[in-house]
Parts: sequence; C-alpha cells; structure tokens
Amino acid sequence: MEKLIERAVRDLCGSAYAIALTGAGISTESGIADFRGPSGIWTRDPEAERRAYRSYEKFLRNPKEWWEERLTSPSLLGNLEKAVPNPGHYALTELERLGILKCVITQNVDGLHQKAGITNLFEYHGSVLKLRCVSCGLRFAQDAFDLEKLRREDQLPPRCPKCGGIIKTDGVAFGEPIPGDVASQSLEEAGKCDLMLICGTSAVVYPFANLPRFARERGKTIIIEINADPTPLTEEGISDYLIQGKTGEILPKIVEGVKKAVK
Ligand code: NAD
Ligand code: ZN
Repeated sequence: MEKLIERAVRDLCGSAYAIALTGAGISTESGIADFRGPSGIWTRDPEAERRAYRSYEKFLRNPKEWWEERLTSPSLLGNLEKAVPNPGHYALTELERLGILKCVITQNVDGLHQKAGITNLFEYHGSVLKLRCVSCGLRFAQDAFDLEKLRREDQLPPRCPKCGGIIKTDGVAFGEPIPGDVASQSLEEAGKCDLMLICGTSAVVYPFANLPRFARERGKTIIIEINADPTPLTEEGISDYLIQGKTGEILPKIVEGVKKAVK
C-alpha cells in the first residue's frame, strides 16, 4: 500500500487539473452509515431500499403528505446536522488549499465537505443542509422556511418565493433527475481533469458513475480509487489503480507526501 500512496503523491504532484469524486464511504468514519458497505443501510435492511425508491413518486403524487411524513419520521441517515468531518474530508480540503485539487464532486448529502471548508464543491445529489424549488431550481438554506409552523398551519408544501413552485429537500431522491446545474458542471469538470481521485464510492449509482467512464474515454486521465473494496471501476479497468483501505487513513498520508514533495 505504501508504494501505491507514493505513486498517488507523484501523480497528484504531476497533474495540472486534479479533481476528486466522493461517496458515502468517505463519511463512514464520521459515523454515517453507507448504503452498500458491509454494515450499510441497504445491506442490513433491503426493505428500506425499496421504500427509498418509492419516495420520489410519492412526492410527485402528494407533496403535502410527503412533507408531513418527512417532518414526523426519523431520517434514514440519522441526524446529519450534528455530524462532523473526519480526516479524509480535511485531507481533501488541504489538497485544495495546496492548489492541487481543483474541485470535489460528491454524491454525499451530509454537508461534511462544506463543513470541512472545501470551496469548489459540487453536490451531485444535493445536500441535507438545503432545500430546492423543483420548478426553477433555486436553492435555500434549510432554515429559510419555518417548516414546523407551515405544518401546524396546514400550509405544506413550502412554495418558492420566486416562482411559486413546490419546494423539496435538496437531496436528490432515487428516480429524481440530477439538478441541471450540477449535472452539467460535473460533466465539464470530468471532461477537463487530467487526474481523478475517487474516494469511498461503490460506483454503481448512475449517472454519477458515468463521470469516471467519461473521463476514461478521453484517454489520458489518471484515475485513482481509494476504497475499502474493489468496485466495477476496478474490475473493468476504468481506474488505473486502487488503494484499498480507509479514506480517513490513506488521504492524510497522501497529503503528508504531497506537502513533502512541494516543499
Ligand atoms: P455506497 O454505500 O454504495 O458505497 C460506499 C463504498 O465505500 C463501499 O464500496 C464501501 O466499501 C466503501 N467504504 C465504506 N467505508 C469506507 C472508508 N472508511 N474508506 C474507504 N471506503 C469505504 O455509497 P455511494 O457509492 O456513495 O452510493 C450511495 C448513494 O447514497 C449515494 O448516491 C449517496 O448520495 C447516498 N448516501 C449518502 C450518504 C452521505 O451523505 N453520507 C450516506 C449513504 C448514502
Ligand atoms: Zn422556484
């Protein structure tokens, strides 16, 4: 593993436009379960997966009922507001500060990259810290609406002050289209990077999993995975190499190496 870490340090230092892609695995060391890891939410409770797949349909059918349920039942991922970033998140922020990483594109909705101080962040599946108008795409801070008051006064769902559209949590539900702005910005980043560092994702959720494939088709991009287990990207040779282990341990070692190299 040490040899692969050294290789990643060399590759990062030699890159002109490195970007990182992250998934639920980078947040497990912050105490947030992933979906498909050994103690993932789906792995333990397949029925929860089926329910999640029905949620967006339900929102479209009856947004009022969807909101009422949302405000009265516990969230699938637990109370994410209290979660704090771990050394993996901070290591990516450090790589951005060093000028090596140009952006992070995350599938996570937990807001931990933002809390760790990343400046150029694309939240591909949205964020639990935000709400979004499904008509015009405008995003709001989570506390921009007094949701409890709206519930008490039977005024749910919240409405967009700009266009009157229905407001939903920003987190993208299964079956919901990826918001146009992040989808196109992410594709653009994947198209121009010469190094892609993929951290803690099983890479089976689409269209996110197309981003490494798109980068690979362009030929020269170096694609590095840091993950607890091999993924389809490893097995299909989309990634150049996998550093197998925990992002919270491997990423800080990479930062240490990069700092020594750029001194
Ligand atoms: P996933 O659950 O499908 O896969 C996580 C991967 O990370 C697995 O391959 C697992 O082996 C690996 N992993 C777990 N802990 C790790 C660690 N400490 N270091 C390195 N690797 C580790 O997650 P996904 O690919 O992100 O897809 C799940 C979808 O569910 C995403 O779209 C995401 O939006 C959502 N989700 C988000 C969160 C979150 O915001 N924290 C949590 C669960 C699910
Ligand atoms: Zn709107």
